[in-house]
Amino acid sequence: MPAATPVPEEAAVLEEAPVEDLVIVGSGPAGWTAAIYAARANLKPLVFEGAGSRTMIPGGQLMFTTDVENYPGFPDGVGGIEMMMDFKRQALRFDTRVVTEDIVEVDFSGRPFRLRSSRGDELRARTVIVATGANARWLGVPGEERLAQSGGGVSACAVCDGALPFFRGQVIAVVGGGDSAMEEALYMTKFASEVLLIHRRDELRASRIMQERALASEKIRFLWNTVVEEVLGDEVIAGLRLRETLTGEEREVAVGGMFVAIGHDPNTAFLRGQLDLKENGYVRLPTAWRTETNVPGVFAAGDVMDDYYRQAVSAAGTGCMAALEAERFLAHGEG
Ligand code: NAP
Repeated sequence: MPAATPVPEEAAVLEEAPVEDLVIVGSGPAGWTAAIYAARANLKPLVFEGAGSRTMIPGGQLMFTTDVENYPGFPDGVGGIEMMMDFKRQALRFDTRVVTEDIVEVDFSGRPFRLRSSRGDELRARTVIVATGANARWLGVPGEERLAQSGGGVSACAVCDGALPFFRGQVIAVVGGGDSAMEEALYMTKFASEVLLIHRRDELRASRIMQERALASEKIRFLWNTVVEEVLGDEVIAGLRLRETLTGEEREVAVGGMFVAIGHDPNTAFLRGQLDLKENGYVRLPTAWRTETNVPGVFAAGDVMDDYYRQAVSAAGTGCMAALEAERFLAHGEG
């Protein structure tokens, strides 16, 4: 009798991996909202909430936000961490399963889709919702991370944190030269006594209209060719040590807050070559008002596909949309 052809070990593992109806990758407002909708639709979603790293933890960017005052339904505001724990609790109330790991590799070339976790587990899925969010870029200077994590007046989101009483009547620094920096600086003119716009060059990257608005504001003072070398202060921010790039001259300025607006990086490295991504790395969605990607059965929700609004409430909204689309996809027997 001829010997049976040996099955490669890896293939055997993949054949045995269970086929999930829906795998959700990410655990910010988009991921948990998708889970709540999918679980209530009896899809028993499997959420990979992330393993956690120095710059990102399960729950996403809101885990670094002290007070959320613009999420409807919380008239007195809510802590970012508390809010994300409640999102998760609500998903767990229904049939949601959670794995505290990342998805590090995907193969969307055939069905069911194949995914590999950071621990090396292989799984298969009929539908996938990508909700891995984005990370705000930081300057990486001394004092910044400590005061950002302690809520000491350093933030990467003026729209989220800028209206807090903490910043009112203060001199506020905004770092960056793009549209975000202009927008954050203009936003902060409502609360600050003065806004220092600190940019590393003498030319802005922002669109003409945003530049004009910022330049026309009497409350915004531009510090050109200037970089932040250190954020000063123990419990709360007291000032910045600045360096002028042309002369190398250093000086200190007193500020009561710093908003870093130097861009975001979407968490899409594990999707390269598998999904259509935009030039800036965000997931491209081919159809307006739909979360389906260029691969039928794979959906994207929240900041990972949104380089424009980047709000918790809009992320939650698209998480809902992705779950409804996944449910319909499965109901039509397409998975
Ligand atoms: P961006 O356009 O990439 O601008 C980032 C800015 O930060 C640049 O000026 C850059 O300086 C500076 N920068 C980067 N790394 C730095 C570092 N390590 N130290 C100091 N400065 C640094 O990012 P964005 O402003 O977040 O905008 C992203 C996208 O969203 C853009 O397409 C923008 O148009 C859009 N957006 C639109 C609006 C609106 O229309 N209302 C609002 C927000 C964002 P250099 O210029 O020297 O490179």
